Amino acid sequence: MKPQQTIAAEIEISGQGLHTGAMAKMRILPQPANTGIYFGRSDLPGKPKIKADIHSVLDTKKCVAIGKDGWRISTIEHLMAAFHGLGIDNVLVEVDKEELPRGDCSGRFFCQQILKAGIVAQDQPRHYTYIREPFWVEGMVCKQGEPLRSTLIALPGEDFQISFTFTSDHKVTGTQYYHYSLTGDTFVSEIAPARTIAFMDEIDYLRSQGLALSDAYESVIVVDDDGYRNELRYPEEIVRHKILDLIGDLYLLGPLVGHIVAVRSGHTLDIELARKIAGQMKPLDNMLKFKEAHND
Ligand SMILES: [Zn+2]
Repeated sequence: MKPQQTIAAEIEISGQGLHTGAMAKMRILPQPANTGIYFGRSDLPGKPKIKADIHSVLDTKKCVAIGKDGWRISTIEHLMAAFHGLGIDNVLVEVDKEELPRGDCSGRFFCQQILKAGIVAQDQPRHYTYIREPFWVEGMVCKQGEPLRSTLIALPGEDFQISFTFTSDHKVTGTQYYHYSLTGDTFVSEIAPARTIAFMDEIDYLRSQGLALSDAYESVIVVDDDGYRNELRYPEEIVRHKILDLIGDLYLLGPLVGHIVAVRSGHTLDIELARKIAGQMKPLDNMLKFKEAHND
């Protein structure tokens, strides 16, 4: 049984939000075993906080936002991925704005800060969610006016694995595939550094929607018809970032055991799958209890 973990010391990070561009100050605080991951707003009266789980999700448009009672905290997915990848179970994240600082638009900066603070084992076992039977969710994405199906399949497995296919007919990115197994300490080298992508022609559209207001586009991968505007960290950095997002989104369920097969999925479908996994566990658990009770 693996023990639950928290951080050894408080972490403070300041920086601009990815979409709003607002400067924010964030503190990550250690918490006792069996607390879970909480997010709170330090700038609001009473410092309200909420547990990061599937019930707290408010929005999945381009990023994941959680909150309640009229307040929210957005773009939590890369920090959640860092928690998932490093096995952090119990922390409180306090921020003084509506959006978290973006770090380096990947999970790398957050991982570096967590590792610098140190990780400590706690005296309680981790509680894993097991995917016990195959099921899936489907959605539609629109690429250049063309509707395309997106799919997420959850299968039973021995550890937590993701096989992701990012499809695109963009002549620079092309279609990308990557398989990743969250075992050992490979998260920091294989997945955490993969950054957010921005297609040049999408940036104007996002700005018109009030998103992508951050002016520091040196931190994301920017691609146009002539190529990448900056140096890549991996040849298939885009699909690795999609895996990072999925690892972050599914951590709303806590640690998982199973194999996820993804084609073109994004935050909306990720959260739908998380809700389905949470829902599927209940009837099955009830069924097992029923069988036990009836000795069947
Ligand atoms: Zn992302």
